[in-house]
Amino acid sequence: MTGPRIGRVVDLSHPLEDATPVYPGDPVARLRPAATLAVEGYNVLHVRMGSQTGTHVDAPYHFLEDGARIDELPLELFLGPAVVADVRGKPPHGRIGWADLAPCAERLAPGRMLLLWTGWDRHWGTDAYLDHPFLTGEAAERLVAAGVRTVGLDALSLDETVVGGEPAEGFAAHLAVLGAGGVIVENLRGLDALAGSDPIVSVLPLRLAGADGAPVRAVAFDVEA
Ligand SMILES: [Zn+2]
Repeated sequence: MTGPRIGRVVDLSHPLEDATPVYPGDPVARLRPAATLAVEGYNVLHVRMGSQTGTHVDAPYHFLEDGARIDELPLELFLGPAVVADVRGKPPHGRIGWADLAPCAERLAPGRMLLLWTGWDRHWGTDAYLDHPFLTGEAAERLVAAGVRTVGLDALSLDETVVGGEPAEGFAAHLAVLGAGGVIVENLRGLDALAGSDPIVSVLPLRLAGADGAPVRAVAFDVEA
């Protein structure tokens, strides 16, 4: 075979199921049979969930009244070369600042996604998952200034999560990225498989009409010439 071909494909998505953890207050996922082989002769599920359940993308409309909805955004935001920043080793509620991103700052540019590898996906399904590290508003603004419009991480939210209250910094990181017309990818997993590589990443969301966000099947892959 001649021409380019897809090499290794890495799944960066969590399974979507009833047990999928959600942001405090968000609807939980419920998957129930709507038709079964035994009764109707075929299987169909009734799927009920919030727009931001599991591995998903936030559109600007998530926080901004006049922000673009998920189905209005250019697909280029969801597909492209990614820079993986190793920011592991943060304590619970630890801050990820610009200094943490310095080692990869030179590779940040328009058209590049930034993925924050916090390692917090190891806490998926436990209470500790809520105590994830988060990006400071200042670091988010510098990312935007560098031209980055897609920021993802392997944790629940780009901003701090405080159960029953607002985080001290509010939603500064969300507002910086979404305010620039960018998107945020949350609840990624398995970024360790990308260490030392510059993969192409796809986080194409479902085309939910008018929505603030949508679930994605996030994958990384290599293209071999
Ligand atoms: Zn978000």
